[in-house]
Amino acid sequence: MLDANVTPPRPYLLLTPGPLTTSSTVKEAMLRDWCTWDSDYNGLVQSIRARLVRLATDTPEGYTAVLMQGSGTFSVESVIGTAVPRDGKLLVLTNGAYGNRIAQIARVYGIALSVLDFGETSPVSPQAVEQRLRDEPDITHVAVVHCETTTGMLNPVAETAAAVKQRGKVLIVDAMSSFGGIPLDVHALGIDYLISSANKCIQGVPGFGFVIARTGELERCDGQARSLSLDLYDQWATMEAGGGKWRFTSPTHVVRAFDQALRELELEGGPAARHHRYSQNQQLLTQGMQQLGFCALLPKQSQSPFITAFHYPASERFSFEQLYARLKSAGFVIYPGKISTADTFRIGNIGEVYRQDICTLLQVMEEQLFW
Ligand SMILES: *Cc1c(COP(=O)(O)O)cnc(C)c1O
Repeated sequence: MLDANVTPPRPYLLLTPGPLTTSSTVKEAMLRDWCTWDSDYNGLVQSIRARLVRLATDTPEGYTAVLMQGSGTFSVESVIGTAVPRDGKLLVLTNGAYGNRIAQIARVYGIALSVLDFGETSPVSPQAVEQRLRDEPDITHVAVVHCETTTGMLNPVAETAAAVKQRGKVLIVDAMSSFGGIPLDVHALGIDYLISSANKCIQGVPGFGFVIARTGELERCDGQARSLSLDLYDQWATMEAGGGKWRFTSPTHVVRAFDQALRELELEGGPAARHHRYSQNQQLLTQGMQQLGFCALLPKQSQSPFITAFHYPASERFSFEQLYARLKSAGFVIYPGKISTADTFRIGNIGEVYRQDICTLLQVMEEQLFW
């Protein structure tokens, strides 16, 4: 039997956009088995829901939080499949794989769809959104990805929200890879649904996602869902009526770890402090990589502090697979690229990653310039 006081040595530091490297205290929080309908556990769930709403806005009245089993995409799908009524029409703003995935969900459900595609390296243009909303007045809902993890692009969420709310549309924001790592207020921006998951900037382990919803909007969605398991309204109604009860088996250990992760976010100083750490590390990484001959894909003004895409160096001898293997044996796992127009790879810096880790990574990288 494993000694509960010993955390096994870690094989590598995850420099990926989730799952990410978590603290040993977050992992230790999973060493207890919880009953899924017991009042202690349900109380924990209620506390998490309330803390998530407060994390999302200084004006928590009128907002609620729903937790949903599965990876982040399950939560996105639960919002799209539940929030858009049968006679509704969804506008999806996209500049990468996660925006495209929202459009794909809409197609699977047969939801009327309009797509505004900005390519892979340009941010969402609020003016273009305004134009599309004028051209297609039957659009009822708009979905946008805050940080498009495909490239690390930070979309102008405030300006986009203003354009959408000016026309009175329901606004859905996939803030999966940004929530908790950057200050943002759903009430101030007029966001109706904000989606994120346990294993990104809040630094928990994977197993569930969550939705911060405007209560008045969610209340309208009874009977609207196109899926049983991913019925966001029913999940919310059950949690409300049962004081934190999930509809089906909940990821109890993951929820307990998430509670610990939320405490640690608070101890660090909240999203502003975490944003500062991530930004400092991202800048250190980009500068160091540039000195080693790696060019970032995106200009500084649209680059998020969470994950950075770098072009391959020009040399024919460069091989991502080889770089990946060498870094892995030195204790770092990086991420392949995901865009079609350029050869890139990505380095994330969310999770338990500190200045010294970035310094060591850059040092190792310098020793491995094999091309
Ligand atoms: C991680 C992520 C998701 C969800 O991905 P899963 O693999 O389903 O957890 C959705 N949107 C964005 C922007 C993401 O970064």
